[in-house]
Amino acid sequence: MVSASLRLCYKFFTALLVITGLCYTQYKLNVFTKTRDNLPPLNPIKSNVHVQSLFFKYKLNLYLSDSLSFDRFIADHRNPKCQGREYPPNLPSVSIIIVFHNEPWSVLLRTIKSLIDRSPKYLLKEILLIDDFSTSNSIKYNLKSYLSETINDPRIKLTRFTSRIGLIKGRNYGASIATGNILIFLDSHVEVNIGWLEPLVSRLAEDTNRVVSPIVDLISPFDFSYNPVPDNFMSGFTWKLTHFMQPLPLREQKRRKDDPTIPINRSPTTYGGIFAIHRQFFFKLGGHDPDMSYLSYESIDLSLWVWCCGGNIEIVPCSRVGHIHRDLPYNFPAKKESIFLFNAGRIVETWLRRYKMFYYLAFPKTASIDRGNTVWRRSHQQALNCKNFTWYLTNVYPETGFPLYYQSIGQIEHTPSMLCFDLRTKINSDKSVTLKPCRLNHRPDSSYYLQIFIYTGNGTIRCDNWCLTGSKEMEKLTLTACDYSQSQIWIYSAKKSQLRHKSTNLCAHLPANNDGPILIQCNHSLLEQKFFIRDNFDWDEGNRLG
Ligand code: UDP
Ligand code: MN
Repeated sequence: MVSASLRLCYKFFTALLVITGLCYTQYKLNVFTKTRDNLPPLNPIKSNVHVQSLFFKYKLNLYLSDSLSFDRFIADHRNPKCQGREYPPNLPSVSIIIVFHNEPWSVLLRTIKSLIDRSPKYLLKEILLIDDFSTSNSIKYNLKSYLSETINDPRIKLTRFTSRIGLIKGRNYGASIATGNILIFLDSHVEVNIGWLEPLVSRLAEDTNRVVSPIVDLISPFDFSYNPVPDNFMSGFTWKLTHFMQPLPLREQKRRKDDPTIPINRSPTTYGGIFAIHRQFFFKLGGHDPDMSYLSYESIDLSLWVWCCGGNIEIVPCSRVGHIHRDLPYNFPAKKESIFLFNAGRIVETWLRRYKMFYYLAFPKTASIDRGNTVWRRSHQQALNCKNFTWYLTNVYPETGFPLYYQSIGQIEHTPSMLCFDLRTKINSDKSVTLKPCRLNHRPDSSYYLQIFIYTGNGTIRCDNWCLTGSKEMEKLTLTACDYSQSQIWIYSAKKSQLRHKSTNLCAHLPANNDGPILIQCNHSLLEQKFFIRDNFDWDEGNRLG
């Protein structure tokens, strides 16, 4: 009886959750359909429950996708200067590799159709479709015949795996059967934009050790609108080694000022997993780490191989590819979190060297996770005479959130109240900072790192890629993406326990109501202005100044 009522209770809450979820999705669908662009009028969502259950399953508006043509129009979002640009003849041939698992039919076909329609025939040698054991009937039984009978393009080659191998092994397999000189890896839910291919290939033709990414625009999973993203970002990563779009460094902003169509040189990583590389160079680097499981972190790992072992990475703004940004819709044969930790751990062991301790101290949970054998990866580095992670950070990615040149690492405490700066507050919609009780050092949980702040050599105060920011105009201090601006430079006086904002000459001040620190006239006798920059993060292997 007790268990029956518990079950009832559980069912009730599940129903409540589903209804709440449906309302939320409905809300989002409505919001986004209002801002649609370049699309035929959306069929009014008649059978809402049907539409929404499709959305829940595929994490995209499949109802809408199915109603859009495979060769729908998308606007040309390139800088006008890119249009009409001429490219050299005799560019190397291209193999496109797309690994997919249970991609919905209309989404996959739109990807393929966009490639055929928007790639010059003389460049595109083949499209290798690697079906990673999809279970949907349409893909299992109809795709092969549809491709050969309806699309009927001999350049499309389908391989079907009979067990799940994951994206990483799938891409390596694709590379192994490719016959083009250039490999381009794409997801199975993209639409390439007009003129996307020549700008990529022509950059590669100049340098066999170069890797390039297009700008990856956002296709909304709600309304399938194509939304261009700004081109003044490069692709880097967070402390957790996940991709992070980082504002272009000032040197690069200056260099590109007169001509925004020139490639963003020195991107620390590829733009997510979408990139082009010479087949020979991919093999020389050892391809993707074949011991990584399913997917995640492989493009960060490969980017390190590229930079440290003699290559370079660029983002080419005249090439644009739209990608549906949606949550992962599929399951894995193993626990998702353990796959991600395993793959991250392989990068840590392969590359991080003395930063390994930094990583494990910041994320203590990861220290005990199995990461398989990485010895052979390191001997391959030696064989290729690769440079190390410190060289990479110093020369390729000095804007990194990893401690490079710094004065201290640890908590920043408002001493009288024993409250600390905490990255969690960046979820405040205005990104304003509110202080939280200081955590005990070395408490091994996943939120510990949120109070680790680096006071860097050039005066920023940052947790990961988020910098303490102030200005005369802004009432409250914020944690915003580090952008190298003066608004993020601080001078700390240990003697006065005072945090002075350099450009305004005002001081951090925590009002008694703890409604977040503000900038105000400096007065070191005020308790509200007593901050203590601790140096209590137990990692002292970096390039500490002074
Ligand atoms: N994929 C796959 N097998 C897997 C996981 C993913 O073939 O076990 C494919 C997926 O269909 C997609 C690509 O790998 O084409 C990248 O995955 P996804 O788009 O889900 O990753 P995200 O873009 O969200 O990082
Ligand atoms: Mn994707």
